[in-house]
Amino acid sequence: MNRVNRRHFIQLLGGAGVLASSFGLTACSKQPTASGRVVIIGGGFGGATCAKYLQRFDPDLDITLVEPKQKFITCPFSNLVLGGMREIDSISHSYQAHEQRGIKVIHAMASEIDPAGKKVTLNNGSKLEYDRLVVSPGIDFRWEDVEGMSEADVENLPHAWNGGPQTTVLRKQLTAMPDGGTVIIAPPANPFRCPPGPYERASMIANYLKKNKPKSKVLILDAKTKFSKQPLFMQGWDQLYGDMIEWVSGDAGGRVSRVDVAGRGVYNELGESFSANVVNFIPPQKAGKIAHDAGLVDNTGWCPVDQRTFESTLHPDIHVIGDASLAGAMPKSGFAANSQGKVCAAAIVSALHNTTMPEPSYVNTCYSLVGPDYGISVAAVYRYSGDQGIYKVDGSGGVSPADADAEFRRKEARYTRGWYASITSDTWG
Ligand SMILES: Cc1cc2nc3c(=O)[nH]c(=O)nc-3n(C[C@H](O)[C@H](O)[C@H](O)COP(=O)(O)OP(=O)(O)OC[C@H]3O[C@@H](n4cnc5c(N)ncnc54)[C@H](O)[C@@H]3O)c2cc1C
Repeated sequence: MNRVNRRHFIQLLGGAGVLASSFGLTACSKQPTASGRVVIIGGGFGGATCAKYLQRFDPDLDITLVEPKQKFITCPFSNLVLGGMREIDSISHSYQAHEQRGIKVIHAMASEIDPAGKKVTLNNGSKLEYDRLVVSPGIDFRWEDVEGMSEADVENLPHAWNGGPQTTVLRKQLTAMPDGGTVIIAPPANPFRCPPGPYERASMIANYLKKNKPKSKVLILDAKTKFSKQPLFMQGWDQLYGDMIEWVSGDAGGRVSRVDVAGRGVYNELGESFSANVVNFIPPQKAGKIAHDAGLVDNTGWCPVDQRTFESTLHPDIHVIGDASLAGAMPKSGFAANSQGKVCAAAIVSALHNTTMPEPSYVNTCYSLVGPDYGISVAAVYRYSGDQGIYKVDGSGGVSPADADAEFRRKEARYTRGWYASITSDTWG
């Protein structure tokens, strides 16, 4: 990071003076030996950002990023792949830039964490010692709460809620379905990864169907009674797709109680059955498996942390960021995970240098495409207080105006693409 960029980021954290002087951020601060060993589990939005910014804040750290995938395929913009607007390659990102910075990238799974011995065991048998560990494993699914479907059925009924091959399988199912067919999307109850994601998915699928199979329907059977940016989505659906998308609230029979894999359908809690050509059941969620195995979760299934530093409240010297963490008012989003990765990097460097962590500020914007030239957004700035944890700053951000004209929506669609380019470059570039 050049000095100007460093200054910008330090300002974002709200502690320019403290951070700059305490981290020794200038090039002449190079030490002959590593100033600490940090291992990061997970090279997604949270982990890859944290690794990059740790190296920027203290180039003398010994940083190891553990991630099984050679290339990370993002969930953001995977809905555009489903709608035929992007190719999967264009949402795939390598770790080359991390390696070029001197971050060790090991393509393996972390299979065990020993918090007392401060060691991580990998599935290739090797062990890594750490002074600080960052865990950003994303989500896992509560299959134990799903009736009629298990993880073994995802080839048939892909949830496509972890970017990757399932996105391609779901896309193939959409292209193979006949005109006049039905797509069911069944989003889970809160909290879950990317609150507006299922509704952007419905939009991108409808956009594809309108052009290619205009007699088809998208039926959203929702576990919830309301959803993120709901009035904006519904307004856009009316304008762009007429009655192609139908949303059924949880209270009106939307709550799915059983999946019928063989019959390609679902039952709601009233016992009514719905069948479709494509069923996209999105299972309820919890923190990634390694967080459970390592005893980092509480009875919510997510990881409690000190929301100022993201250090686990259950195991010292282990930080949990991203979707797996309980991060107060912040949603489970890639932008939030990226923001948390930076705050966490600052907290770790502060701790290793025995200096005071400045008061952090966090940010999130969730753009969604309703159509190729129709974007909507919700944004917020967050701060931390001892009483409330991470809270939304009053008056910050907000949602796109309801009465915006076509030009405004077109500009927001352009900002959506700009956002994707900049966040992925900030995370993996
Ligand atoms: C359809 C969809 C659309 C979305 N759109 C947006 C959007 O527009 N904007 C936005 O901000 N967010 C969006 N999101 C949300 C975003 O994808 C997540 O919030 C974000 O990926 C969370 O980052 P993370 O680091 O917690 O997890 P991830 O990014 O999922 O990264 C976790 C990584 O950890 C690795 N891992 C797991 N276990 C281990 C282990 N034991 N050892 C080593 N590595 C491990 C995994 O391989 C993975 O690469 C969307 C999500 C979906 C599903």
